[in-house]
Amino acid sequence: MTALHQSAAEERSDLARKPPRWFLFSQPPPLVAYVFVVVGLHAVLICLLALQTRWRPDALLTFGALMACGAICIEASRRLGMPAGVARDLLSAWWLPVALLLPPVYALLMPIPLQALLQLRVRRTLLHRRVIVSSAHGLAGAGASAAFHLVVADPLRGTAVWLTDLDAVIPAVIASAVLFTVINTAIVAVAAHSAAPGCRWHEVLWNRERLVLDVVELCVGVLVTVSCALTPALLLVALPPVMLLQRSLMHQQLQAAARTDAKTGLLNAAAWQREAGTEIGRATRTDESLALLLIDIDHFKRVNDAHGHLAGDQVLVGVAGTLVNQLRDYDLIGRFGGEEFVVLLPNADILEACRVAERLRNRVRRLSVPADDEAVTVTISVGVALFRTHGNDLLELLASADLALYRAKKSGRDRICLPATQKS
Ligand code: GH3
Ligand code: MG
Ligand code: MG
Repeated sequence: MTALHQSAAEERSDLARKPPRWFLFSQPPPLVAYVFVVVGLHAVLICLLALQTRWRPDALLTFGALMACGAICIEASRRLGMPAGVARDLLSAWWLPVALLLPPVYALLMPIPLQALLQLRVRRTLLHRRVIVSSAHGLAGAGASAAFHLVVADPLRGTAVWLTDLDAVIPAVIASAVLFTVINTAIVAVAAHSAAPGCRWHEVLWNRERLVLDVVELCVGVLVTVSCALTPALLLVALPPVMLLQRSLMHQQLQAAARTDAKTGLLNAAAWQREAGTEIGRATRTDESLALLLIDIDHFKRVNDAHGHLAGDQVLVGVAGTLVNQLRDYDLIGRFGGEEFVVLLPNADILEACRVAERLRNRVRRLSVPADDEAVTVTISVGVALFRTHGNDLLELLASADLALYRAKKSGRDRICLPATQKS
């Protein structure tokens, strides 16, 4: 299910530094207020609907069966391991039937024990994030439930009737499932945006990959809903394929996470070196030119000292975003260390490499990251090295670029240097 996607990296670093228990109160005030409003609404609705709901045994049994399926999937994901950054767990396969088949109060309740289980058994994350994700799922489920019950008043009792008229009901099932995703994504996206006001809306809403996964989750949820409506015993048949799908989905995410730097989304050092080695092999065979840029943020320690580590992290994310926006799709961009980035430019000669480096330097200078009441700006120094001129393999190229970067730092920072005596 959708989590606070853009925050996985922060989350890892936040936890590494053991945030205080009430870390929420050190977050931006709009986020604190938003969390209280959403969680308060969730709690109030539970109380109100709990009083109005008739707690029927067949509904409780179905709820228990779907909850057990969710718990089994969570235990299975525990064995697989679920580091920060792995955000899709396919749990909506079990949330959706609860929302559609049972009265809305069940949808409000379902995420609480499951998120608690995730927190205790799979991955400890910041408590306020768990709570807001839980409320988002609960409110989204209740919204979908209320909408679907307008079409089929008592889906559990009326199963025999509505399953004979599937052509009419399936569009309502799909529409409710879409509503579930839209509400959930909107609630989480507003929280993510309040946590990092500098980020762009589309980053916290959908991208193509997320949209595909949402559709897959909804389809699975619809199939499980129809099976469960026929008889809850069919959940025994639905469980193994859902677990297998969950496993392959998480495996895919783990593979992607293993090559990505969690903080910036760029390639991590190991993946960058692997892919850069392949590019250099290709340039050797085809006799093409290739250049390397080693980029280091100037006086970055001062940013951390003046504005805090989280603001420093936002600057790293901003610089990484600038590199991605300014470079071509086939340029290889990696985060090499703390505040050091590395770029491989296939087919670039020295003039092109210096031109690109200059453009990056100018763009980063214009970058402004909000922190407290101020805007943080930074500059970069860049070391440039050319394949064959400054090195015949990756290690030699990196050593030359490092030398060039050292020269840029020594001669005053905020500039581009080559390993030799020339300077752009
Ligand atoms: P210079 O211009 O010489 O490069 O100075 P600098 O301050 O940028 O370099 P220095 O190596 O002295 O300090 C780098 C700082 O980067 C120290 C470290 O705490 C910080 N840093 C490393 N990784 C991270 C990170 O992931 N997040 C944040 N916020 N800071 C980091
Ligand atoms: Mg630095
Ligand atoms: Mg450095």
